[in-house]
Amino acid sequence: MPTIFTHAVAAVALGKVYSDEKRPARFWLLSILCAVLPDADVISFSFGFPRGSMFGHRGITHSLFFALLLALLIVRLAFKKMPAFSKDWWKLLVYFFAVTASHGLLDALTDGGTGAAFFAPFDATRHFFPWRPIEVSPVGLRFFSSRGLEVIKSEFIWVWIPAMLLVASFWLYRRLRAPMK
Ligand SMILES: [Zn+2]
Repeated sequence: MPTIFTHAVAAVALGKVYSDEKRPARFWLLSILCAVLPDADVISFSFGFPRGSMFGHRGITHSLFFALLLALLIVRLAFKKMPAFSKDWWKLLVYFFAVTASHGLLDALTDGGTGAAFFAPFDATRHFFPWRPIEVSPVGLRFFSSRGLEVIKSEFIWVWIPAMLLVASFWLYRRLRAPMK
């Protein structure tokens, strides 16, 4: 996995791309929660699930199915006033789905561990992208080791900088598109 900081950065970047309206703290906290929650599956290590099983690390919680369920749950519980199936409801659903799915997608760009089970529970196959520039951060990584610095450096280059560029381009695009005053 990339470190949780990097998953959180991806979440905040997606939130900024989603809209540049001012959003309540709750919106940002839920975004970060969605992006880091899939790694709660490290608890599976203590249950002894075999490596690569549907319930192991990077298993079902890294799937698109999980992302959809979590998004539905969040929109239902945290945005109760939003009329179901309205345009804004769909936008929020897609947004929280994308934030949660970003976790597995980033994991699939790392150079180690097992791939992410994108299609669980229907198919337990683990997937990686053909191009995997991000150094994997082992569970329980000690950040101040030299290995930790390597991981942070690669996440900075391959996630933080692209995230900042993405946010900046959307910011610019919105400014240019806004009617002249
Ligand atoms: Zn993960």
